Amino acid sequence: MVQNLPVKSHTHKDLTIEGYSRAVVQTYWRIPELKLGFDLGGQPWDFMGTPNWFVSHTHLDHIAALPVYVARRRMMKMEPPNIYLPASAVEGVDRLLKAVSRLDRGRLPCQLIPMAPGGEIELSRELVVTAVPTFHTIPSLGYIVWERRRKLKPEYQHLSGPEIRDLRLGGTEVAAETRVPRVAFLGDSTAEGLDQNPVMYEAEVLITELTFVAPGHRRDKIRKMGHMHLDDIVARQDKFRNQLIIAAHLSTRYHARQVERQVAKILPDGLQGRLLLWL
Ligand SMILES: [Zn+2]
Ligand SMILES: [Zn+2]
Repeated sequence: MVQNLPVKSHTHKDLTIEGYSRAVVQTYWRIPELKLGFDLGGQPWDFMGTPNWFVSHTHLDHIAALPVYVARRRMMKMEPPNIYLPASAVEGVDRLLKAVSRLDRGRLPCQLIPMAPGGEIELSRELVVTAVPTFHTIPSLGYIVWERRRKLKPEYQHLSGPEIRDLRLGGTEVAAETRVPRVAFLGDSTAEGLDQNPVMYEAEVLITELTFVAPGHRRDKIRKMGHMHLDDIVARQDKFRNQLIIAAHLSTRYHARQVERQVAKILPDGLQGRLLLWL
């Protein structure tokens, strides 16, 4: 296999979370079992088989690899991929792809699908992705991946199998849809991106940005840059109901050990062992 970019991997129940994310450098994630990825700041060679990508915003470290990804899929005779991105970015990205296509003398077939807060995409019978507002320096979105399950309505739960079948044959809707938020992806955002979307705190797996950890950074300055500081996590530590909280997108001004030491000092139990620093 061609190894062209760093990838870290973590397994949570039936999901494999793979990716890499450092501020300014590059951000890319994917969950192969869900056939989707978030952001295209880089494109590890073996990520190309994943056909659905949800882009949080168009800062270069989150989208630079889009043309390369689309071209690879074409060369490998794979279906044109679906790229979901903030609606305001579609026209510019389309122009970018056309320019690259001319320079490269190769087609770049893909669907660019505009997304807005509240938007919903049905990936399959079981999987739905919704877009939520986030707060950055340019238009940006977070994404929630929901697993849909059909469950017998409570009023029918005491009935026997044949009784339920008769009701169903008679045209009664006996089941109701329930949704479980499996994965929440914040992208780049201030902490408002968490607070304004309470589902971020409920999803089984939260992938959040955590760009700054060192003490003494001015909070108002970090907010202005559309990012989060470790203090923002500390202030919200009782809100997280997630099974796993992945903190990523750390500033390149830190060494990994420096981040680990600072987080261990401020949050010694690592949010009850649920916090995973992606370094
Ligand atoms: Zn970024
Ligand atoms: Zn950004």
